[in-house]
Amino acid sequence: MTGSKRREIFAGNWKMYKDHGGALELVQGLLQGLETREGREYLIFPPAVYLREISELCSGSMVQTGIQNVYFEKEGAFTGEISVDMARDCGCDFVLIGHSERRHVFKEENSDINKKVKAVLQAGLTPLLCVGELLGERESGRTESVLKEQISSALDGLSEDEVSKMVIAYEPVWAIGTGKVATPEIASESHSTIRKILAEIYDGDLARSIPILYGGSVKPDNIAGLHACEEIDGVLVGGASLEVDSFLGICNV
Ligand code: PEP
Repeated sequence: MTGSKRREIFAGNWKMYKDHGGALELVQGLLQGLETREGREYLIFPPAVYLREISELCSGSMVQTGIQNVYFEKEGAFTGEISVDMARDCGCDFVLIGHSERRHVFKEENSDINKKVKAVLQAGLTPLLCVGELLGERESGRTESVLKEQISSALDGLSEDEVSKMVIAYEPVWAIGTGKVATPEIASESHSTIRKILAEIYDGDLARSIPILYGGSVKPDNIAGLHACEEIDGVLVGGASLEVDSFLGICNV
């Protein structure tokens, strides 16, 4: 992030944690404790049922909100799903797409992810696209091919202009919720690989300008090393975003 002109984003994914009182307490603690840093953006993904209230609380503050998932159809008989228009109605700006838990627990395919990215862009919201390899894929030297497949299929049919509005998060699956953070070297190398893939599909300018966040066991005690990397434009934090002090310890680095 040091010296780069790209957007710098610190994001927290609350997953399926917090009751109503806990969610409000967390957001109020963040709003009180976040320090202003030139050019730094803060973003939270609360559970969808609290999104409207939390978006209202954050309105006019440094904190933006996003939804953890949407369905790509506009409306219809899709029990339990939330459309992009409904998410926008709740006042959020971002949509998390392709998180590893959606891919691996809910068996979302690359083709679903592509439809979601398109629906989100059409609605004028920002997709935060997550990509990342499994441990076995890394150990068998397939990281680059997995990233290529995930990125090229997620972006299939999108113009350079559309992709320039997106944010990408590199989240190696072996580092999510495991306490096993990628070293700054591994994360930087994968971010460069993602930029190379984007440059092959689009061009170097787009590849250089798109923000790429790192996610996977980011904590207050490992943020400094990641933050110092030129290739890392911010972080997507799960577990450590659930407590005011730990998320502030990351955001105020
Ligand atoms: C995540 O859920 O996106 C994540 C990175 O989780 P954790 O920080 O807990 O590894």
